[in-house]
Amino acid sequence: MSRLPHVVVLGGGPAGCGAAYQLRRTDKATVTLLERQDVVGGNAGSFQWGGQWLDYGSHRLHHTVNPDILTDIKRMLGPDFGDFDRHGRIRLRGEWLHFPIKSLDLLRRLDKGFALGMARDMVMRKLSKPAEGQTFASVLHANLGPTMCDHFYFPYARKLWGKEPELLSGIQARKRVTAGSFGKLIKRLLKPVGGGKYYYMREGYGQISRAYAAEGKALGAEIALGWGASRIERSTEPGYTWTVTAEHGTERRTIHADYIWSTIPITLVAKISQPAPPAAVMNAAQSIGYRAMVLVYVQLPVDQYTTTDAHYFPEGNVRVTRLSEPKNYFRSTEPKGTTVLCAEYPCQVGDEIWSATDQELAERVAKDTTTSGIPLPAAPIAVHVRRLAQAYPTYLMGYEKPLGVLDDWAASQPNLLVYGRQGLFAHDNTHHALFMAYSAVDCLTPGGFDLAKWAGYREVFKTHVVED
Ligand SMILES: Cc1cc2nc3c(=O)[nH]c(=O)nc-3n(C[C@H](O)[C@H](O)[C@H](O)COP(=O)(O)OP(=O)(O)OC[C@H]3O[C@@H](n4cnc5c(N)ncnc54)[C@H](O)[C@@H]3O)c2cc1C
Repeated sequence: MSRLPHVVVLGGGPAGCGAAYQLRRTDKATVTLLERQDVVGGNAGSFQWGGQWLDYGSHRLHHTVNPDILTDIKRMLGPDFGDFDRHGRIRLRGEWLHFPIKSLDLLRRLDKGFALGMARDMVMRKLSKPAEGQTFASVLHANLGPTMCDHFYFPYARKLWGKEPELLSGIQARKRVTAGSFGKLIKRLLKPVGGGKYYYMREGYGQISRAYAAEGKALGAEIALGWGASRIERSTEPGYTWTVTAEHGTERRTIHADYIWSTIPITLVAKISQPAPPAAVMNAAQSIGYRAMVLVYVQLPVDQYTTTDAHYFPEGNVRVTRLSEPKNYFRSTEPKGTTVLCAEYPCQVGDEIWSATDQELAERVAKDTTTSGIPLPAAPIAVHVRRLAQAYPTYLMGYEKPLGVLDDWAASQPNLLVYGRQGLFAHDNTHHALFMAYSAVDCLTPGGFDLAKWAGYREVFKTHVVED
C-alpha cells in the first residue's frame, strides 16, 4: 500500500481520542474518529452547568497511570493539571470515616460490635480459609469474612449492580475490590495506591479527552462529532477492507477504511454489522449488558457544601452510592455563592430511577443526604439530570461465555479491533482505556496489525484493577 492505512475509530471517549492522537503522532495512519455525541469524552467527559464544569459522576485520574501517558497528559494540560490529596468519606454503621482511612479515626468511630466482628473474621480466616468459589459473594466471603461483606460490600454491590452478590461473577470481586485479602484490604484502606492522591484538571475530567482530540485534530485526524456509526460492512472499494456508514440527524456518509478500531459497546458492533453475524453471536449480544446510571446535579446557594470531594454510601438505607462536590476536586472557589453536588444513582434503563422526573430525583437527593446526617443546607436553586445507559459492564455469573462468543466473532473479522471499556466489556479506569489505545497503536506496523503482540497486551489488560 503506497498510502498510509486509514483507521476509522468508533467512539470519542478516552480510548478513541487517545488512539486518534497516537496514530497521528506516530504518523502510522490517517484517522476518522466518529463520535455520536456533540462532544468527546464519553463517560469520562464533562459539561458546563450551574456556572462550573461537571463530570459524569466522580472522576479522577489515578496515580497508577502509565508514566508515558502521564507525561503526555501533563504536557497537553500544562497549568490546568493538578495533583491533590483525596478528601473522601465513607458512611459506615452510622458514622462518616475519612477516606483514605486514618487508623485513629477507625478505632475511634467504628462501633465495638463491628470491630469485634472484623477481628473474629480475621482470626477465623487464619485458622481455616473457606474455598473461594466462583461468585462475587463466595470470593469476598472467603477473603474478607462476613462482617465486611454483610455491612459493606454486599449492600454496595446490590445498589451498584442491582443483583444479589450470589448472582454476580467472582471476577467482579477480583476486578472491583482492589484488595483481595483482609491484610491487603486494611493496608489499602489505610494507604491506598497512589498514597491517597489523585490528578485533576481545571476544566473537568473531560479536559483529558478534549486535549487528546484537539491534538489529534491538529495532527490531521478528522474528529467527526455528532456522527454515530450505524453500519459496518466489508468494502467493495478496491484496496479497502471496510465501509462504515455514519449518521448525523438526517445526513448520512460512508467512509472507506483499512481498519475499524471500535470502542463502542461490543454488543452494538455486532448489531450494526452487515451482513448480520451468525445467530449465536446475536444471541450472545443479547445475553450481556450494562448497568445504567442517573446523575442528579443539584445547585445550592452556598460557596461550599463540605470540604469533602466524594461521599461514599455503601449501606442499604439510602439509594445513592456516591455524592461528589465537583468544585472541591480542583480546589476551586469559583463560582462564588453557589456550588453543585452530583449524586450517583445506579439503575436499569427504564426502571423507576431512570424514569423519575428531575423533581423526584432532587427530592431523593435531599432525603438520602438527610438520612445520612449531611442534609442539604438549603433547597436547591436548580436541578439538572443526565443519564448514562452504559455506566458499568455487569458481570453476571457465566457472562464470560457469551462475551467469549462476541470476542471470538470480532477477532474473526479482518482488521476489526475492539477495545476500551465498552469494547472489551472491561470494568476499568480512564488510564486503562488510554493504555489500550497506546497499545493498539504500538501493534500497528507497516506490514499490518501485529495480532501476537496485541494478544500479549490483552493479557496485561486482564491484570487491570479498577479504582474508585
Ligand atoms: C460513574 C463513573 C465514575 C467513574 N470514575 C472514574 C474515575 O474516577 N477515574 C477513572 O479513571 N475512570 C473512572 N470511570 C471510568 C471511565 O469513565 C471510563 O474508564 C472511560 O470513560 C472509558 O473510556 P472509553 O473510551 O473506553 O469508553 P467511553 O467513555 O464509554 O466512550 C465510548 C464512546 O463511544 C461513543 N459511541 C457509542 N456508540 C457510538 C456509535 N454508534 N457511533 C459513534 N460513537 C458511539 C459514546 O458516545 C462514547 O463517547 C468512571 C465511570 C463511571 C461510569
